[in-house]
Amino acid sequence: MSKPIVAIVGRPNVGKSTLFNKLAGRRISIVEDTPGVTRDRIYAEVEWLNKKFTLVDTGGIEPESEDVILSQMRRQAEIAIETADVIVFMVDGKEGITPADYEVANMLRKTQKPVLVVVNKIDNLSLEDNKYEFYNLGIGDVISISAAQGLGIGDMLDEIVSFFNDFEGVAEDEGEIKVAIIGKPNAGKSSLLNRLVGEERAIVSDIPGTTRDSIDSFVEIGGDKFLFIDTAGIRKKSKVKEEVERYSVLRAIASIERADVCAVVIDATEGVTEQDEKIAGLAHEAGKGVVIVVNKWDLIEKETNTMNEYSERIRKDLSFISYAPIVFISAKTGQRVSRMIELIKYVADQHAMRIRTGALNEVISEAVLMKQPPIEKGKALKIYYATQASTKPPTFVLFVNYTDIVHFSYERYLENQIRQHFGLEGTPIRFIYREKK
Ligand code: GDP
Ligand code: GDP
Repeated sequence: MSKPIVAIVGRPNVGKSTLFNKLAGRRISIVEDTPGVTRDRIYAEVEWLNKKFTLVDTGGIEPESEDVILSQMRRQAEIAIETADVIVFMVDGKEGITPADYEVANMLRKTQKPVLVVVNKIDNLSLEDNKYEFYNLGIGDVISISAAQGLGIGDMLDEIVSFFNDFEGVAEDEGEIKVAIIGKPNAGKSSLLNRLVGEERAIVSDIPGTTRDSIDSFVEIGGDKFLFIDTAGIRKKSKVKEEVERYSVLRAIASIERADVCAVVIDATEGVTEQDEKIAGLAHEAGKGVVIVVNKWDLIEKETNTMNEYSERIRKDLSFISYAPIVFISAKTGQRVSRMIELIKYVADQHAMRIRTGALNEVISEAVLMKQPPIEKGKALKIYYATQASTKPPTFVLFVNYTDIVHFSYERYLENQIRQHFGLEGTPIRFIYREKK
């Protein structure tokens, strides 16, 4: 099931980062070798009362003037409305309501999505009454916290997760493969989507019950059903480059959460950029299947080995998703688009693969025989038993004597052995360790 997305909106200096840091402290384990993503505090995985959600910070660069603040806040609200399931509107309880707050409130009032007004900087009881004025914003629930002192955070999280019940169970699986087409601006995502949907069989529809304002395209190709997820475009292009990039990352996060497979679209004429790495890293961290789609291949001058050389470069630049197949396409001419579809279907199957416990344990004992785990901290790792705990992505539980001596490189080795036997192409795989004496 996809994780809900909670977006924080609010003026500069109300305390968004402070809250974000407090909550991100609860961040569940994040793969360390993913470039870009972990360093960027644009989002955090939060868990509260066994409910997981993705928290995104819509705040971007620091604006210098009042009117820039206003326009940026409008864009923040817009993005939150488009991508989030729950919106946290943070205001400053010391300063009181400002005109910019009213402006944002006007926008948020139009959305069907739950909005929680969080009045920050209520550092002690004597300030508690400050929160009442914010009911004038007219968007419902108001709750007070002190992000700096860590007060009221639990109550706030209770409120946030209580909204999740509203859309649990909505995401019905119709057996279709859910695909997110992601990539940086101008990589050719819309062109590709148009090509896929342009066929007469395609039915473009707003799927009823989806909680996000997304336009999902349902397409049947060769008897297989695909749902192409498109988090409604932010059509108005911003002139500020960092803003465009931040928003495109936020959009990608929202689409990725709902997908089984991500088609990471790269512009062949530019090669892999830092932003591509970041976006591919998001798909990887979210545990989704990945196909690397090199688009605009029609614009590349080709010699005998061009494609191989290009592949090698991509393997270097995106080494953390070495499991992902690469396909070279042209959304413009349609070249190899059907091959891309085949790969997406293949990867979706791999992503959902279930491996029998017997076969898994055979492979692992054989792997251990061929190469013993290294001694760590004077102890030798023993792997007693393994089983696949879940799919999407395939997740394996290994019962071992000491969980604290599992070495990263040995995990890599096991992963490679498992892949050699079972394929699992295009999907990340995960290991969980349990101690058994
Ligand atoms: P952002 O611009 O919305 O991300 O705001 P920041 O998190 O950077 O906070 C802006 C300022 O408000 C900083 O000086 C924080 O220390 C301060 N601040 C944040 N939360 C609180 C709070 O709960 N109480 C008080 N008194 N100050 C806070
Ligand atoms: P998006 O921002 O990722 O949705 O990118 P668009 O689909 O809007 O494409 C950006 C630009 O690249 C447009 O001018 C497209 O016509 C062009 N484009 C997209 N795909 C291809 C392709 O395969 N070949 C060529 N030559 N141009 C393409």
